[in-house]
Amino acid sequence: MPPATPHILIGETAAISTDCACPTPPPTASPVRAAGLYQRADGLHRDQIAPGWALLCNTLAGGAPALLSPAAEERLAGFVGPRPLDHPDDLRLAEARLLAQMGAPIGPVAVTVDTLTAWVHVTNACNLECPYCYVRKSSAQMNLSSGQRAIDALIATALRRGFRRLKLKYAGGEAALSYRLIGQIHAYAADQAAQVGVELEAVVLSNGTVMPAAFADWLAASGVRLMISVDGVGADHDRQRPWKGGGAGAFAALERSLVERLLPRGIRPTVSITINGMNAQTAHAAVRWAIGHDLPFSLNFYRESDASAHYRELRYEEQQIIVGMRAAYAVIAELLPTRPFLDGLLDRVQAEAHGHACGVGHSYVVITHSGQVAQCQMELDRAAPFGPESDLIGLVAVGSIHNLPVDEREGCRECQWRYRCAGGCPALTLRTTGRSDIRSPNCAIYQALLPEALRLEGLRMLRHRLAM
Ligand code: SF4
Ligand code: SF4
Repeated sequence: MPPATPHILIGETAAISTDCACPTPPPTASPVRAAGLYQRADGLHRDQIAPGWALLCNTLAGGAPALLSPAAEERLAGFVGPRPLDHPDDLRLAEARLLAQMGAPIGPVAVTVDTLTAWVHVTNACNLECPYCYVRKSSAQMNLSSGQRAIDALIATALRRGFRRLKLKYAGGEAALSYRLIGQIHAYAADQAAQVGVELEAVVLSNGTVMPAAFADWLAASGVRLMISVDGVGADHDRQRPWKGGGAGAFAALERSLVERLLPRGIRPTVSITINGMNAQTAHAAVRWAIGHDLPFSLNFYRESDASAHYRELRYEEQQIIVGMRAAYAVIAELLPTRPFLDGLLDRVQAEAHGHACGVGHSYVVITHSGQVAQCQMELDRAAPFGPESDLIGLVAVGSIHNLPVDEREGCRECQWRYRCAGGCPALTLRTTGRSDIRSPNCAIYQALLPEALRLEGLRMLRHRLAM
């Protein structure tokens, strides 16, 4: 039973790596000031998730949902008109973003993304042949001087545009095939960034099957994170991700990497699960596997590219994805990890308020293995040359993907979820509809699942913070 006095429990969020360029917006809540008048925020989402516990969430302001006891809801209801915060519980309601200060703007208007993110495509080679991959493979890899020139241009761009942090995503192909090169480029980047006071962070995106001990040692020593792709368990994964030339065994290889090389060194990779028409009904097993190993995970939707378009079986129907995602959510509700997982639950959706679905054109670039710059990893074939002093953002701002703010997208402007979803992947919308100023083709999926994703955070609080 909830306590008789007001009880307000505020959920948590944690950034989770994905294969994309989603900006990691800083929390949008300004510190609550006791002075001033407050009112119940508009358009609160409410869900009675357990007897005596209601989940409430300000979907426009961003942040995690909160759990309120009946007494706390009563206190909230008292703010039907403007009032001062004259009790500690009122402050708590404001911290949960359920009370809005009169005259304060809503949404992500004050947010500036302070991180320049770069996909560094170190190799075009891969030991797997996944049908949904957007890379037209070859044996070519980046050379060290191209990598160093890219780092020079990235740091010059960060300084010119006022980014205080640079985030590198070493990718391919299979990036781990070029792990020595990654080590060399990263050492150069760390040195150059330190000289000019730019913070550096990095992650390697990998299929997890290539894990020499020397690479695992380097990951552990450097603090560079790892993200591995897992699309099912056992044969389901192998069907999605066969060896180059065919054949099963990729799942066993990645599990060996995890158990024998990574976990003993304290490395907990993030698991990226890509849902498509082939694995929608079985992907829940990958979620169970990730939670079983205490790994953070993200659920992402397949995006068709020129390279994958002929695999018709990867295409999906809305209902098929919703059913499959609900099966995955049922696993999460059963196992309820202790670590916050909200940001990984639904494709490009993020808990913090943001106005653009990703950083394309603003805070993200892709460096190809041949040393050119592109808008997005789906656009590797449309890259432009650059020099060590180039403004890389300026070069990609005019590409084919128009990454419009969600407030300028038809169908999104009035949506309750617009600052969580931000309209979805602009490349997918353009490819599917021929337009950039319209809502995502995945809109119905987002709308169906967003409340259920919030509910999972509420259940996590009930289980781990109230021991229910
Ligand atoms: S794509 Fe759909 S869910 Fe997302 S902001 Fe637009 S209308 Fe809302
Ligand atoms: S356009 Fe789509 S695929 Fe490209 S970075 Fe943005 S969200 Fe990711």
